[in-house]
Amino acid sequence: MNGNETIGRFAPTPSGFMHVGNILCAVIAYLSAKSKGGKFVVRIEDLDPLRCPRTAARDIIETLEFLGLKSDAPIVYQSERTKAYAAAFQTLCKVSQIYPCYCSRAELHGADVIRLPDGGILYPGTCKTLTETQRAQKVRNIKPAYRIAVPDERIIYDDMLFGRREQDLAKDCGDFIIKRSDGLYAYQLAVTVDDGEYGITEVVRGADLLHDTPRQIYLQRLLGLPQPEYLHIPLVLHSSGRKLSKSAGDSAARLLKHRSASEIIGAIGFAAGLTHEIRPMTLNGLIKYYSADRLPHDNILLPPELC
Ligand code: GLU
Repeated sequence: MNGNETIGRFAPTPSGFMHVGNILCAVIAYLSAKSKGGKFVVRIEDLDPLRCPRTAARDIIETLEFLGLKSDAPIVYQSERTKAYAAAFQTLCKVSQIYPCYCSRAELHGADVIRLPDGGILYPGTCKTLTETQRAQKVRNIKPAYRIAVPDERIIYDDMLFGRREQDLAKDCGDFIIKRSDGLYAYQLAVTVDDGEYGITEVVRGADLLHDTPRQIYLQRLLGLPQPEYLHIPLVLHSSGRKLSKSAGDSAARLLKHRSASEIIGAIGFAAGLTHEIRPMTLNGLIKYYSADRLPHDNILLPPELC
């Protein structure tokens, strides 16, 4: 893959059924990359094998293939990438402050914590200043998670849709987990390593991850990885206005049973604001209508044809 080429990706977590919101994201990721003559790759984010059975991954890949969203490179499975994450973890230990955190969920969600926009909490730094003796006592009973200490630094980036975004790492995010207490590497670390190693130049994903992006940019800088461009897609809602869920009722596979690929692609193009009417379209046909400027800034209400 040459240096100036656009490489977009779709990176689903196979922890349940794929819903139409996920498909819309995949289609936009595909169109955005292809409209620039680039490549589209699929990565399965099955970091947590207990939550992500291989059958669910297979289901996602089949759905994508049915719609013509074929990966231009072999599909990457995060469950097979532990060595790469371990190497990045070691690098981070050398270039920044990583410390074990023994706090339980209950301790973290106590009464006086500061809640973050993504539902998480601002880590109060409890374990940051533990002495070696205190750590030695705790480690006997508790397996720690590992946090990276963040500086009081403002991360600024331009989202292709949401425009200029800013986050103060210390105030709006706090020291965050890069390795979980069950031994698995955390999403923030894995996604950063994979986007970097596979040369991803643009990241298209749901706006629920807007708040996570500065953490990933921070890790990219520490690991010497390039910063991709970002396009966050607004929340996609069922035609009734409710949120979509990963349960069988909203499963994309259910839709695939009674609609053709071109009917679905055409309706997605309409829902995403690219076309003015719903008519069957191929992905190739939709490329010429694609422009990030046409995407909606508010929640996307699915037409009944996609529900
Ligand atoms: N795996 C995440 C999800 O399915 C997306 C992560 C990303 O695109 O960075 O929600």
